Amino acid sequence: MMAQIDGHTILIGLMATPIRHSMSPTMHNNAFAKLGLNYAYLAFEVGNDRLEKAIEAIRILDMRGSNISMPNKQKVIPYLDQLDKSAQLCDAVNTIVNDDGKLTGYTTDGIGFMKSLTDEGLDIRGKKMTLVGAGGAGTPIAIQAALDGVKEIALFNRDDSQWAQAEKNVKTINQETDCHATLHHLENQTELKEAIAASDIYVDATGCGMKPLEDVAVVNDPSWFHQDMIVFDTVYAPRETKLMRIAKQGVVKHVFNGLGMMLEQGAAAFKLWTGKDMPVAYIRQLLFNDAQA
Ligand code: NAD
Repeated sequence: MMAQIDGHTILIGLMATPIRHSMSPTMHNNAFAKLGLNYAYLAFEVGNDRLEKAIEAIRILDMRGSNISMPNKQKVIPYLDQLDKSAQLCDAVNTIVNDDGKLTGYTTDGIGFMKSLTDEGLDIRGKKMTLVGAGGAGTPIAIQAALDGVKEIALFNRDDSQWAQAEKNVKTINQETDCHATLHHLENQTELKEAIAASDIYVDATGCGMKPLEDVAVVNDPSWFHQDMIVFDTVYAPRETKLMRIAKQGVVKHVFNGLGMMLEQGAAAFKLWTGKDMPVAYIRQLLFNDAQA
């Protein structure tokens, strides 16, 4: 149910392409309605070519801000006035806030990842993480975890087009945070097994486990995991991935999909725009018929 739109309604955008499939408009508009906030969130099909003008429109139309998704997350940076620390270190923006014409870029995916763990009563500060992937999800997870106090990150990536980003993430973390990061080839399975054995949390940010890779998992042997660790798959469709099934066979206590991260990255943006807490449990139940464990 939408709130009544009137002459005072404050507009928030989402600028990306393709974008019609996104859950974000439904998520934010239902949250606005639930809290009685006079905001509206609309998706705009915007690619790199019209991005500069679209960003200028945020100022001209006095919009409160926007989400930014592919292919605009990096391209948007020159059009903004400032970046928060996490966006700066990720070199990517997924949320813009407009304060009287001054546009600040944030990246909330890593915040969402960390918050989804604290929602479950889990604190990974001071702990060791093994992370696979250095793309749109893996980068903010690594950077935010490092900024928030994770002690060690072993980052694994395939020898593919994302390897250079993985190198950059490790360098950034070691230069800019107190976390110690190391980079490893995913092809080196011995190193992966050893890193997981020494970790408190294993995070998969590769897209394995979702279509068309639903029958693929980076780790296929349940004995690689230990009982007290967290196994976190960023995929949330399907709700249970191959990796999650393998981890559960190995009796891992804390096994999560990426739904909490997705909701909490939205909640972090919602808070930046409105100053209010998104009713996350309500949205989770309403849109995903999924009560928190
Ligand atoms: P991306 O294309 O930017 O990066 C993909 C990463 O995975 C790269 O590091 C690549 O090297 C690696 N990779 C790809 N295929 C692989 C394979 N077969 N084996 C091993 N490594 C492989 O993608 P992205 O935007 O980072 O998305 C990755 C996953 O994260 C997707 O499943 C996406 O749904 C999920 N995601 C979840 C959230 C959330 O809020 N839960 C947010 C963003 C992305």
